[in-house]
Amino acid sequence: MTSRRYLIVGAGVAGATAAATLRAEGFDGEILLVGDEPDVPYERPPLSKAWLAGTAPEIAVHPADFYGGQSIELLTGVRVTELDIGARRVRVGPSLLGYDALLIATGGRARRLPGFTGERVHHLRTRADADALRERLVPGERLAVLGGGVLGCEVAATARGLGADVVVLEMAGMPMERVVGPELGAVFAGIHRVAGVDVRCGVHVESVEEIAGGLVVHTDQGPVECGALLVAAGLVRDTDVWEAAGVPCADGVLVDAGCRTTAPGVFAAGDVAAHDHPRHGRTRVEHHDTAKRQGAVAARAMLGHDVEHDVPHWFWSDQYTHTLQSCGDLADTDEFVVRGSVADRSFVRFGLRDGRVASVLGLDRPREVMAGRKLLLAGHPVTAEQLRDESVDLRRVMRPARA
Ligand SMILES: Cc1cc2nc3c(=O)[nH]c(=O)nc-3n(C[C@H](O)[C@H](O)[C@H](O)COP(=O)(O)OP(=O)(O)OC[C@H]3O[C@@H](n4cnc5c(N)ncnc54)[C@H](O)[C@@H]3O)c2cc1C
Repeated sequence: MTSRRYLIVGAGVAGATAAATLRAEGFDGEILLVGDEPDVPYERPPLSKAWLAGTAPEIAVHPADFYGGQSIELLTGVRVTELDIGARRVRVGPSLLGYDALLIATGGRARRLPGFTGERVHHLRTRADADALRERLVPGERLAVLGGGVLGCEVAATARGLGADVVVLEMAGMPMERVVGPELGAVFAGIHRVAGVDVRCGVHVESVEEIAGGLVVHTDQGPVECGALLVAAGLVRDTDVWEAAGVPCADGVLVDAGCRTTAPGVFAAGDVAAHDHPRHGRTRVEHHDTAKRQGAVAARAMLGHDVEHDVPHWFWSDQYTHTLQSCGDLADTDEFVVRGSVADRSFVRFGLRDGRVASVLGLDRPREVMAGRKLLLAGHPVTAEQLRDESVDLRRVMRPARA
């Protein structure tokens, strides 16, 4: 066993994947995984879906005994508060911990809005947040959701499933508009309204006031009474400690394609990383798939391998019985082509660039999304007609015609 110590700060999916990858790649030094939550690393996507609904039995990334079995030292409930890049050490409580390589995988926190506090005001980032919110989601209770982004919409769907009344207060013209644009945002507005959600768009929430047994949310379009409020106003990246130490940051910790910072021995992965993606350029995304893949890439980079994270961005969202899947850069497009029917809520929208698929976004069309993803990965030339024509099997577009 070597005496090297690799330190991973942040015990989310990126950190846990990095630790497991280091061992899988044969690293035989010390691995220390430090996280400030009390839990073993767990998956966050179910927190707005099955875990919130109370139907997911387990969400741990690895079973609790995995870490001991792999000789990974997992320190939970402790926060790294300082970094000294030159001395290669961090502060954890009163102790200083040295390292040979450091991975920053600290994700982010739910954005708090000034004045939006109190026991009926909820946020959703951690398992504890989800457990507290679930208590509110009962028949007869009314939940107001500030922010109709992906997270707010997922919670609205789960809350309806549990019998709660839901009002969504969205600033933009449509829910999820920032991610899918106004036209497809309208599709989601329709889905939620059919399910009984009161979707209000173009609304500016101003303040919240406690009243007996509930809250009044004040908006520019009048007051909204509710039993609880979820503030789903996005993520604040967790970079303060690293910026103070001099790790270059700009909307996240700046890393190259292989998750390396320019600070010696320091790497970053996951939601906290502003990654120089070979396909998409510099981006910081908040996608589970990216966090996991970057965790693995960062581990290999820490071992000195020449690696890059170059897989196109991928995310999904489950709302009611619907699944949205998205691949690639939705903005990098000359032309959008729709296969299927937006009106019927069953479609794939392809973004084309220079005659090739640059993005794929599908609602309840998993096979065509996967076929589109393969076309994207291969950079195979394809026409708008082929993509639009439902009689064309997209899985065969790349196969040579039989003689
Ligand atoms: C409710 C919810 C639903 C989601 N659903 C989807 C989905 O359907 N599809 C999808 O693609 N993505 C989804 N995501 C996003 C996805 O879960 C994230 O992209 C992913 O969890 C990021 O992982 P990470 O390891 O980078 O960061 P995190 O999961 O945030 O983990 C970072 C950890 O580091 C800890 N930490 C921070 N600072 C310190 C410090 N100084 N010292 C010690 N520990 C520290 C944090 O507390 C946290 O535990 C969802 C996210 C949420 C919150």
